[in-house]
Amino acid sequence: MASPAELAQQLKFRDPEKARALAAALQREVDAIGRDEITIMHVCGSHEQSIARFGIRAVLPRQISLIMGPGCPVCVTDAPEIDEGVALAKQGCRVLTYGDMLKVPGTVKSLGDAQADGGKVDIVYGVEQALEIARAHPDEEVVFFSSGFETTAVATAAAILRGLPKNLSVLSAHKYVPPAMEIVAGMPGSKVEAFLAAGHAAIITGCDCFRPMAQKYRMPIVVTGFEPLDVLAAILKTVEMIRHGEHDVANCYPRCVTGPGNLPAQKMLWQVFEPVGGQWRGIAVIPDGNLRLKAEFAAVDARRRFDIDVRSLWDYAPPKLAERCICGEIMAGFKSPKDCALFGKECLPESPVGACMVSSEGTCKIWHQYGGVPDLKEVG
Ligand code: SF4
Ligand code: SF4
Repeated sequence: MASPAELAQQLKFRDPEKARALAAALQREVDAIGRDEITIMHVCGSHEQSIARFGIRAVLPRQISLIMGPGCPVCVTDAPEIDEGVALAKQGCRVLTYGDMLKVPGTVKSLGDAQADGGKVDIVYGVEQALEIARAHPDEEVVFFSSGFETTAVATAAAILRGLPKNLSVLSAHKYVPPAMEIVAGMPGSKVEAFLAAGHAAIITGCDCFRPMAQKYRMPIVVTGFEPLDVLAAILKTVEMIRHGEHDVANCYPRCVTGPGNLPAQKMLWQVFEPVGGQWRGIAVIPDGNLRLKAEFAAVDARRRFDIDVRSLWDYAPPKLAERCICGEIMAGFKSPKDCALFGKECLPESPVGACMVSSEGTCKIWHQYGGVPDLKEVG
């Protein structure tokens, strides 16, 4: 439960008067720009939750299109990565994963299916719990299916540097967000003209790292937090920057984020991981978008420690409906969940067809949970 001090802090960032003043200022800026459409992409599942939960799209000027990009690490985990976890479970390893990852479809099976088939698959809340489970099962090979963006990758890196139990290894599905933002910004036909960057991730990376991208793609990038006023203030800042042609980075989350970020955390991250190209589910191959364990950590790298036999899974047919999932186009900013014929029908949180309906940070799941709040402006 939140403490009185935390509650006071929350209320400060949920003040309706201030929200109205920000919305009015936003309308004036948009009118001054004088265009029919201004497309801003944010790249964080927590931002989408805040936007949907507080009905932020309903108070935006009609000209602003606020879309979510590749902002959920569960959604962007590619099917072959899930296949590797499933194959390891089939080969007798105890595979540990975050709960949201359980239902994400692999090419043919999810980790949840592997569990139902008798494989040892356990849910964990973090790397510390993985260490505990490995210590509790010293006679088993335990594999931590380690996913998440740079924020969680730092925790994995720190645990590896401290030393893992002999029977624990890491199957890294970690992703690094800034290169994915670049790819999405440069996609032919993309309307994205500015980004709201994820505040949590920027606590680690800082906001200076976005400056080269802002200049290369000639767009503002605004780092922000997760309270409604954080998001509204950041949108206002973004629109002001668009109006004045500023291709730079602004920090609207200075209470948590600095220019250089958390340097000791970055040191650990890059000591353990190296960026490599890899497919982000349905979107594209992102150069430098995946985080792979460096060769010196081969002993704890499940990909090097085991001969992962994914071919053993290919005697099953892939699920038919999956062909109609448009998660990739949604995460690249070209479509929204309501453009998917399966949304809310064949595809539901309890029976997800695509990854975006699985994770609590996935756009389809969030839109389903909030009953289409993101579209209020269309009826208002
Ligand atoms: S890990 Fe945190 S910052 Fe990154 S997308 Fe998820 S909620 Fe946002
Ligand atoms: S509604 Fe389901 S099938 Fe459609 S894009 Fe979203 S996750 Fe994929």
